[in-house]
Amino acid sequence: MNNRCDVLIVGSGIAGLYTALNVYDKINVLVITKGDITDSNSYNAQGGIAAAIGKDDSPDIHYHDTIMAGDGLCNPAAVRILVDNAPSIVEDLIRLGVEFDRDENGELDLGREGAHSRRRVLHSNGDSTGKAIMDVLIRHIIERKTPFRDKVMVLELIVENNICRGVIVWDREREEIYPIYSGVTVLATGGIGQLYPFTTNPYVACGDGLAVAYDAGAELCDMEFVQFHPTVLKHPSAPSLLITESIRGEGGVLRNIRGERFVPRYHSMGELAPRDVVSRIITEEMEKTNSDYVYLDITHLSRDFILSHFPMIYGECLKYGIDITKDYIPVSPGAHYMMGGIMTNLKGETSIRGLYACGECAGTGIHGANRMASNSLLEGLVFGKIIAQEASKYVLHNGDIDILEEVTATEKKISDKGILDDYRRRLQDVMWKYCGIKREENGLKELLKEIGILEEEIRDLPVANFRDVETKNMLELAGLIGETAMERRESRGAHFRVDYPYRDDIYWQKHIVKKKEIK
Ligand SMILES: Cc1cc2nc3c(=O)[nH]c(=O)nc-3n(C[C@H](O)[C@H](O)[C@H](O)COP(=O)(O)OP(=O)(O)OC[C@H]3O[C@@H](n4cnc5c(N)ncnc54)[C@H](O)[C@@H]3O)c2cc1C
Repeated sequence: MNNRCDVLIVGSGIAGLYTALNVYDKINVLVITKGDITDSNSYNAQGGIAAAIGKDDSPDIHYHDTIMAGDGLCNPAAVRILVDNAPSIVEDLIRLGVEFDRDENGELDLGREGAHSRRRVLHSNGDSTGKAIMDVLIRHIIERKTPFRDKVMVLELIVENNICRGVIVWDREREEIYPIYSGVTVLATGGIGQLYPFTTNPYVACGDGLAVAYDAGAELCDMEFVQFHPTVLKHPSAPSLLITESIRGEGGVLRNIRGERFVPRYHSMGELAPRDVVSRIITEEMEKTNSDYVYLDITHLSRDFILSHFPMIYGECLKYGIDITKDYIPVSPGAHYMMGGIMTNLKGETSIRGLYACGECAGTGIHGANRMASNSLLEGLVFGKIIAQEASKYVLHNGDIDILEEVTATEKKISDKGILDDYRRRLQDVMWKYCGIKREENGLKELLKEIGILEEEIRDLPVANFRDVETKNMLELAGLIGETAMERRESRGAHFRVDYPYRDDIYWQKHIVKKKEIK
């Protein structure tokens, strides 16, 4: 097996696959992913992708909405690139074969979501946009015969003199740990939702990419900004299914357990206020009514409309006896998206040469302190294309891969049963309790203490499978999230401090950057 390539892409979500498809011809690419090709946040995305293509819309308005939602912390230059490139990216997706939903006149049907002042969200198969886009990208990867390996997990980066030369992986099928050398490495490893016990994210979202980059000396930024989606299905036997924001965009309202509509009492934008605001309002109302859920009500919409726009959610809820055309949907906020990540410049370059980060794992500053709905798939595409071009140029400019010290492969069996699962659960519980939607100093101190204890307890324990590796990564990231949440003594976007409830632009209109000292 050839373990050398020009451009190595880690992750098979939208960021990874779109980057792979845009690397220049003749440059050899390899995509690896730790699960199956479809195991990603991208495949689960529902509501859609934002682009200013409506007659009453423009990239300037999209820009303004994104900046407002980001609560003073967006990188304006990155947002500019995002919104200006959105319409052409959508055209490219259509050219590749993505079929976005259209209205009766054949025009693209644009949905509306929180904090968007215009209808600008393109969707496909109603609420299965991620799957619709990803199936097309996967088809192209297969048709173009792009080299691809699944069930291969990155354990660490190979970095010499601050230049990334590739990665060390654990291959589930070969039961072997070996190096893959590359001219450029692109981390497109997605989010961190699994750090919390109640999350919309699938099992792969453990923040591995952030942890390996940090361990190799890359800078991470904005780690305190974790977004909690306001409406996740809350049912004792159902998985934590996201209930898309488009439902509120189409007039869905939130009611407390007494059936009363409550959001307009707290905020003038009502149910379409930014996500961080709605999540906090729901939390407060749940506390007031002594309940662990509220209801989302779309029963006023016609059955036909619900079935055509939200077929997946309709079908999933029905499995648990909830007919969303007639019944209120029990929901509560759940961990959803990491605004921070591996710090990059506008070309996707990290602080390590030859290492790029793309998509949710990247800290581009686009989302500031709070991501606006449907800007994330867009980020993976817009920056995936830029990174593909930059990586191609880097390879052409830097020539052959040059490695100082070769690593040899070793056999490593994989066990079905993890060793660290109990530690993972303990970590998730304290993250939820002390570093969730509301934070305060004493709780954060408690969290850091618990993390210290867990670190001590697992320090010398071996890893038996991928889950164990993830748990170690999660522990490291939890420490960074806890520390930065403690440092930021203000409330902004998704970071809410009960003890510092106001935004403080004098001291805190800045990013917290973390870097590990490498000995
Ligand atoms: C339920 C849900 C609904 C959403 N709806 C929307 C929406 O409508 N619109 C929108 O814009 N955004 C939405 N989002 C957010 C959006 O889907 C994600 O932010 C985006 O898809 C991230 O893409 P990505 O390619 O960066 O990461 P992902 O799609 O998560 O892909 C990461 C990949 O990296 C792999 N990986 C991770 N660690 C390793 C490792 N150590 N080794 C090898 N491979 C690894 C994973 O297996 C996976 O293939 C939603 C998210 C969820 C969870």
